[in-house]
Amino acid sequence: MAWRDVMCGELRAEDAGKRVTVAGWTDTRRDHGGLVFVDLRDHTGKVQLVLKETGTAHELRNEFVVQAEGEVVARAADAVNPNLATGEVEIQVDELRILSRSTPLPFQLDEENVDETLRLRYRWLDMRTERMQANLRLNHTAISAIRRVMDERGFVDVWTPSMTRGTPEGARDFLTPVRLQPGKFYALAQSPQLFKQLCMVGGIDRYYQICTCWRDEDLRADRQFEFRQLDLEMAFAERDEVLDVMEACVVGAFEAAGRRPPQRPFPQLTYAEAMLRFGSDKPDMRFGMEIQEATEVTRDSEFGVFKNAPCVRYLVVPKTFSRAEQSRLEELAKEWGAKGLANLSQISKFLSERELASFGVEEGSTALFVADEEAVCARVLGFLRLHLANELDLIPGDVDVFHWVVDFPLFEPSEDGGWTFMHHAFTAPNPEYEATFEDDPASALSQHYDLIWNGWELGSGSIRIHDAPVQQAVFRVMGMSEEEQRSKFGYLLEALQMGAPPHGGFAMGIDRFIAKLAGEPDIRQVTAFPKIASGDDPLTGAPTPYPDEALQELGIRVIAPQPE
Ligand code: ASP
Repeated sequence: MAWRDVMCGELRAEDAGKRVTVAGWTDTRRDHGGLVFVDLRDHTGKVQLVLKETGTAHELRNEFVVQAEGEVVARAADAVNPNLATGEVEIQVDELRILSRSTPLPFQLDEENVDETLRLRYRWLDMRTERMQANLRLNHTAISAIRRVMDERGFVDVWTPSMTRGTPEGARDFLTPVRLQPGKFYALAQSPQLFKQLCMVGGIDRYYQICTCWRDEDLRADRQFEFRQLDLEMAFAERDEVLDVMEACVVGAFEAAGRRPPQRPFPQLTYAEAMLRFGSDKPDMRFGMEIQEATEVTRDSEFGVFKNAPCVRYLVVPKTFSRAEQSRLEELAKEWGAKGLANLSQISKFLSERELASFGVEEGSTALFVADEEAVCARVLGFLRLHLANELDLIPGDVDVFHWVVDFPLFEPSEDGGWTFMHHAFTAPNPEYEATFEDDPASALSQHYDLIWNGWELGSGSIRIHDAPVQQAVFRVMGMSEEEQRSKFGYLLEALQMGAPPHGGFAMGIDRFIAKLAGEPDIRQVTAFPKIASGDDPLTGAPTPYPDEALQELGIRVIAPQPE
């Protein structure tokens, strides 16, 4: 005997008269003069069971698992439930078996605003909600679509190790001790970056993986310790060929999810332009309100603050602000690192006709100025733009803007006063900087690119260095001695000296992508078993201390045990 011969959400008017067996969870139960009505639920939906008020029907409680057998009957016209796909029928049950009981529930499935830690503690219950069912299934739908695209384009799924040497992606490593070699550690891969490059040297030509990556960073809406990437690498590929593959994956996932896909090709914006116009390397381009440049026109200003500042930029906001609102914005600007935030209406008396005419501020709008280092102007006005757009409700909810940011700097200043990579150390310089980047790291641009969706960075990639001397020059700029290079990356340098093809690739955060596709505010909502901000797993209680004997075997002594 089969447990079921039809799913709960499948029955329709034309099934009336059939004898069926269904199995699922008791969603709701109502007693009505000698009859019990039960909504039975599985992942396809719900169906109404009508039961005689017998002993078994009486015992039913929410979330009991039952099997019911009976006849499908059409409901009377006034009993049809238009909100239920199966609402035109019900099952007159003559056989009912309780397969599994449930203790009283810590929360009801239809309860709103259940504390998230409680949801995660009882994730198996939370997973039964429509929201989590839809989100977890969307994961599968999107990933299947991406795999189809990769397959059609000849990508080969190659498994790479999780336990490896540290691969620097700019985060801390998670370490794994090794019993056979006490005192030594593997790092859990922050990404398969170097393995995928070695696959190119190995002639795989087109590699991909939906891989797990580990990074020891503070947890946030878009960040967990472990997360998945669509990780890919292509030999003999130009930048736009890599971007084309990624766009096909995005569009494929949108289509599979039944969403209108974004137009291709996605527009490209240089890093310099993104910083100038939007004050961010992941600009939200669903709305305008772009930052304006005023450094030229204010160079000889009578207004000392403008005249003496290396950079002057402003934002025109379609609103006027009260004194209180203006000082609140000034406070925010200071928190973000500005010395102040000038409102044009307060400083116009110090400005020339020429300056005023160039700003082009209409009646009912306000121009807000920051005069500072270029990076401060960009950052503060970028934050302000987003803050005010949210506050003034300027962001349309129903548009999807995908775009690329290209031509990032190759290096950025490091904390110790030297230079470090902006993304990772394997990104190739733009060809025109190849000869000069070592002497002039500050000006060098790279072949790095980012994919942005409505202001969320979905992923990054680059054309890589495939030439050992260039790779060594990058390491030198970062202050690495020959010896350090050899000890940390000797295997890469060797590989680059044994026939490395030009290559490039990309990695997209799958969880971020799916969270946005699902319209969720954070990746925990699309992850089956995520951790909370403290780094705890409320379900299993991990992480936990380990007995001393076990640690001793690994050569580890805990110096400051955490209270449990
Ligand atoms: N390895 C990079 C990352 O994980 C992506 C890439 O350059 O392909 O962010």
